[in-house]
Amino acid sequence: MTTGIFFHKEFIGKNWPVVGDRYEGFDKLIEDLSKDSEIEVIEPEPVSEELLLRIHSKDFLEEQRSSWYYYGAKLTVGGFVKACEMVWKEKLKNAVVFLVAAGHHASKSSAWGGTYLSCIGPTSLRLRELGLRRFVLIDTDAHHGDGDRDVLKEDEDAFHLCFCWRDLEEDSKLCVNVRSPEGDEWYLEKVRSMFPRIRDFKPEMIIHFLGHDTHWNDYGSLGLSENFYIELAREVKLLAEEVCDGRYVIMDGGGANREVGKYIWPRIIKVLKK
Ligand SMILES: [Zn+2]
Ligand SMILES: [Zn+2]
Repeated sequence: MTTGIFFHKEFIGKNWPVVGDRYEGFDKLIEDLSKDSEIEVIEPEPVSEELLLRIHSKDFLEEQRSSWYYYGAKLTVGGFVKACEMVWKEKLKNAVVFLVAAGHHASKSSAWGGTYLSCIGPTSLRLRELGLRRFVLIDTDAHHGDGDRDVLKEDEDAFHLCFCWRDLEEDSKLCVNVRSPEGDEWYLEKVRSMFPRIRDFKPEMIIHFLGHDTHWNDYGSLGLSENFYIELAREVKLLAEEVCDGRYVIMDGGGANREVGKYIWPRIIKVLKK
């Protein structure tokens, strides 16, 4: 099976909220990836309004519809839903989903921080319709995934494991404090310390909101180096192979530094396709 890469050329050349034109130059990268027989590059289609309406309130969606970034957000959600469906149906081994204007700060009826539609809400609905019950959502973006927490709050079969600025535990919703970090290895050890909890939960898929805004030279710096993200993906991939037949989908979370993006994504994809 191949590794899926979800990317749309619409994502290039626009000043997206918070992350700007972070995919400038990615056309070359995507073209190179598409020549690899172990990789399938897929151009996403926009998510349907019907599916969005099952998560977001009508008034909220009405408001979003008038924004210039709404189409990009819908392509992002469409790509993420498709990626998880294909991995679940074993049409892809694992996947990376590139993202604009949608993500972890979108609640059911409010949103902020550059992400204006929920990715996880529509996806969890679709996966359940296809028979998946339990999944883990790991969030290693610099910021707390408040929108995802809101969308998943009543979903006991979703383990939301968020690395942010506090320690908190409520049933299957957990936050781990990673403020005042002491380097790559320190953060990786925090993540590893949660692996037993993930094993105990017995997920059927691991989903990862992987922000590189935590890089030392990005807007949410936690002092991490570019090689941190590659090692992180490698270790979570191994865990996914152990607990859920390798079903692992990574979203490009926060982060505006395109040099970091250009460095980490080809390397993370190489790790995934192994
Ligand atoms: Zn962030
Ligand atoms: Zn959190």
